[in-house]
Amino acid sequence: MAFACDFIYETRSAKEFDKSNRYNIGVFHQPLRRKYKMSRIKVGDEVVVLSGKDKGRKGKVIERIPKKDRIIVEGVSITKRHIRATRRGQESGIVEREAPIPSCKVMLICPRCGKNARIGIKISEMDEEKEKLRICKKCNEVID
Ligand SMILES: [Zn+2]
Repeated sequence: MAFACDFIYETRSAKEFDKSNRYNIGVFHQPLRRKYKMSRIKVGDEVVVLSGKDKGRKGKVIERIPKKDRIIVEGVSITKRHIRATRRGQESGIVEREAPIPSCKVMLICPRCGKNARIGIKISEMDEEKEKLRICKKCNEVID
């Protein structure tokens, strides 16, 4: 029995695969990209929001959603949700909570110099154990 994917493999040459955006980005290249990507922002970091209605607001990162490349920042992008009591004893009302924002819309505040800083990655080879370190590009200090 022939499967749909067999058909694709048989009828498309490698070159055609490369040209086709769908296969290129969706199937082959994404796992690679994900592998080499390192998060520049971690839970507990102080960040400043660069754009949107909360532009300029500072807050702490509460949660990361790496799959969607989003983060939740304390006090930023607060949305109201109207909750209806579906069961007896459940409270209805309006709940305010933070919505996830794209992690590219924030910048880390360097704990060493206090400025908004771009982050560089350095690999330390102390103790023969390679470890990735984040460094501030403004003061060149190691953050962690
Ligand atoms: Zn710094």
